[in-house]
Amino acid sequence: MNIVTLKPSKEKSLLRRHPWIYANAIDRVDGKPAPGATVIVRSADGRFLARAAYSPHSQIRARVWSFDENEPIDHAFFKRRVQRAVADRRAMVSGTGAVRLIFGEADGLPGLVVDQYTEDGGEGRSQIVCQFMAAGVEAWKEAIVAALTSATGCPNVYERSDVSIREKEGLEQITGLLAGDEPPETIITSENGVRYHVDVRNGHKTGFYVDQRDNRALVQTYAAGREVLNCFCYTGGFSLAAMKGGAKRVVSIDSSGEALATAQKNVQANGFDAALATWLDADAFKTLRRLYDEGERFDLVVLDPPKFAASREHVDRAARAYKDINLTGFKLLRPGGLLFTYSCSGAIDSALFQKIVAGAAADAKVDARILKRLGAGVDHPLLTAFPEGEYLKGLLLQIA
Ligand code: SAH
Repeated sequence: MNIVTLKPSKEKSLLRRHPWIYANAIDRVDGKPAPGATVIVRSADGRFLARAAYSPHSQIRARVWSFDENEPIDHAFFKRRVQRAVADRRAMVSGTGAVRLIFGEADGLPGLVVDQYTEDGGEGRSQIVCQFMAAGVEAWKEAIVAALTSATGCPNVYERSDVSIREKEGLEQITGLLAGDEPPETIITSENGVRYHVDVRNGHKTGFYVDQRDNRALVQTYAAGREVLNCFCYTGGFSLAAMKGGAKRVVSIDSSGEALATAQKNVQANGFDAALATWLDADAFKTLRRLYDEGERFDLVVLDPPKFAASREHVDRAARAYKDINLTGFKLLRPGGLLFTYSCSGAIDSALFQKIVAGAAADAKVDARILKRLGAGVDHPLLTAFPEGEYLKGLLLQIA
């Protein structure tokens, strides 16, 4: 049996049900656990703490599967965890064909992300897309895929584990078919009454930013009659929502030409007036300033940049980047205008993000009020024992 014994007093976080065991908390490892193998974690005085997946290459040396001494880690375990996650989503999420079925630690499956896209209309084709980002879920991939197809009834599972984080686990990046049929070039799904093309093979992450669903709905609510700027638009998520909501004009910026091509297909798929939308294939930082210098002004601005801070060392530089875009974002607003601003950097918490945005408002010389704090949808739960799971935070602000 593989047993990991912790150093004295290092059991505290596990007793609070935090699911990670760092290498420096470990006193010794008995047995020769392979990557992803199940280990029993014990306190220095020999008490059972958890069963966990061993990851010899990562600083996060083990991730907890279960705190229950009587729960074996086997096929039935994965079936239960996956079934529960899928049932929770069925109960909590509606009005969309794009759902996060499994969100890692919050669903008791550390390192696993699973999204499901369902065609609207058509033959009801459905596609599951997975990211395996830790040695434990990698080792149990077959069991997890079988559990997913059985819990959802969807036979098609594709893998998008082309994420650099796998290298920390000693795993290569990989993509490909795991079950069922090859995914079509694009799946047309719908969210809040808007149709979106999703390319699960080549799109970012699993193909679509499912986490922003509620925020896109909010933009839809406030877009009527407004001139909208959507910066970092990807395939037009917020832009399409704004058009659906009756925006007068939508200008969108992204540096990915492919994403912008999909965005334009999305305008067509929804039958919206293409003349209302402008798509700028350009760097957002420069383009925001150029628009300002040219005297462009908007009633609603969305800033949803990629993760600027990959880790704690990058926080200062990221903070400057967030401040830069938010400063120009504020200046581009007409009086009474709305700013939807986001950060998906886990290393920047909501207090720091608010401080950065406040600094940007001060430098822009605007009076800004927070109308609402924003985050990911209910299919991205946050374990109270694992605050590290929080990544997406946002603010809806209005300027005077
Ligand atoms: N809001 C989108 C998701 C945004 S993801 C949605 O709801 O779907 C972040 C986007 O920023 C990506 O599409 C990426 O191509 C783009 N991006 C990254 N760096 C950029 C830059 N410097 N200028 C413009 N776009 C950039």
